[in-house]
Amino acid sequence: MGKKYRVGCKGLDDFGKGKIVFNNKPFSVPYMLPGEKGEIELVFRAKETAAKLVSLDKLSEARVEPECQVYETCGGCHVLHMQYATQLEWKQQKIKDLFPEEDRRGILAPVIGMEDPFHYRHKIYASFANGKKGEILAGIYEENSHRVVKTKQCRIQHPLANEIISYVAGLMKKQHIPAYNEDNGKGVLRHIYIRIGEKTGQVMVVLVTGSKEFKEKNIFVDGLRKQFPQITTIIHNINSAKTSMVLGKTETVLFGSGTIEDELCGLKFDISSRSFYQVNPVQTEKLYTTAVEFAGLTGAETVLDAYCGIGTISMVAAKQAKEVLGVELNETAIQDAKKNAKKNNCSNVRFIAADAGEYMVQLAKNPEAVKPDVVFMDPPRSGSDANFLNSVVKLAPKKIVYISCNPDTQKTDIDVLKKKGYRVEKMQAVDCFCHTRHVENIALLVRN
Ligand code: SAH
Repeated sequence: MGKKYRVGCKGLDDFGKGKIVFNNKPFSVPYMLPGEKGEIELVFRAKETAAKLVSLDKLSEARVEPECQVYETCGGCHVLHMQYATQLEWKQQKIKDLFPEEDRRGILAPVIGMEDPFHYRHKIYASFANGKKGEILAGIYEENSHRVVKTKQCRIQHPLANEIISYVAGLMKKQHIPAYNEDNGKGVLRHIYIRIGEKTGQVMVVLVTGSKEFKEKNIFVDGLRKQFPQITTIIHNINSAKTSMVLGKTETVLFGSGTIEDELCGLKFDISSRSFYQVNPVQTEKLYTTAVEFAGLTGAETVLDAYCGIGTISMVAAKQAKEVLGVELNETAIQDAKKNAKKNNCSNVRFIAADAGEYMVQLAKNPEAVKPDVVFMDPPRSGSDANFLNSVVKLAPKKIVYISCNPDTQKTDIDVLKKKGYRVEKMQAVDCFCHTRHVENIALLVRN
């Protein structure tokens, strides 16, 4: 045990850890909240000194019991020990601190939160590992490692997913089917990936094995279908790569159609396992509705939806636009998008499988190509790229609606757009990831 020191917490860092200053040096203390006082211990490691919370003698009014047995090892949630209303205030403040005054003037309303912020994740995965006594461990990997944290009752995942994961782990144990071992390539099941349609109740289960061989497949298919009649499709996916990605490229449908259907904003969407679909469908509707409201469509606009996934924003916008063009890198998602357009009788949308940046460069070069009036962009966490940003300003849409799951990269990209003739007019954050440090932020940029 190292020496203990009494400190007070001044605020939260980006990861939801308590900020303290000790000996004029800043430290982040996990699980300490602003206003709290207590004892910490300094743990000296090779590269840095970490601060550990030992005890608290003054508690924050925002503190709540996390009610999760693996909260401190799992790392999936960051602020489960803070009451939800305070989490929303914190996320709002993070955005305010990130953007300059001229941008944050656009923030008119607080972060849109959830009425019931639990069990919201409808896309769930777990990894399997062999325990020491022949038991099967199932859960997510401990942060920055490949050690499985056994999670029985996750408070942010859909409860049905928790049940399915426990059932599969139990079946593996009963039938002596070992988990895949990444180090020696032996064993069978590596991960399970589950998607649940919020409105339809349809359920997809993807069983990921480490090699092609899957002679036990019928044990799982028969067992799962019997135990969970809600399951509408089961897929076998092979992932033999040394990677932290859950799904590999090759898959076979074992039962059902290989897709599930869900509904958003009154439209129906077929979703393949390997296409992106938002994790929190309740908040996604609010996200899309706000984004489309920001665009202020009148029915006359040509709209470009970049990073469009299975065409969800495209089709919501198409109801109020002349035409919509969706661009997305993942070909499976584009196939889904095309099917979804037919399914919804949406005749004014088109989809193209391409790198969004490269496609924008082509559009900007070609004087006969479409000239969008409005661009929606919803890139991955890493943000957009120079190709995209330089070309979008050449195409000069009146409005750009930038939807982002990472306000840090969004800010960097917005700074580029601001230098090239755009200003931020509105901003609205939507909490799609309750109890974590993440938040979605929508910015409306208007051409000067
Ligand atoms: N707007 C969609 C998808 C957002 S997620 C929705 O709300 O569901 C970001 C999407 O960008 C993913 O579908 C991903 O496949 C896609 N993507 C990632 N890099 C890309 C690139 N360079 N060009 C086009 N799309 C890309």
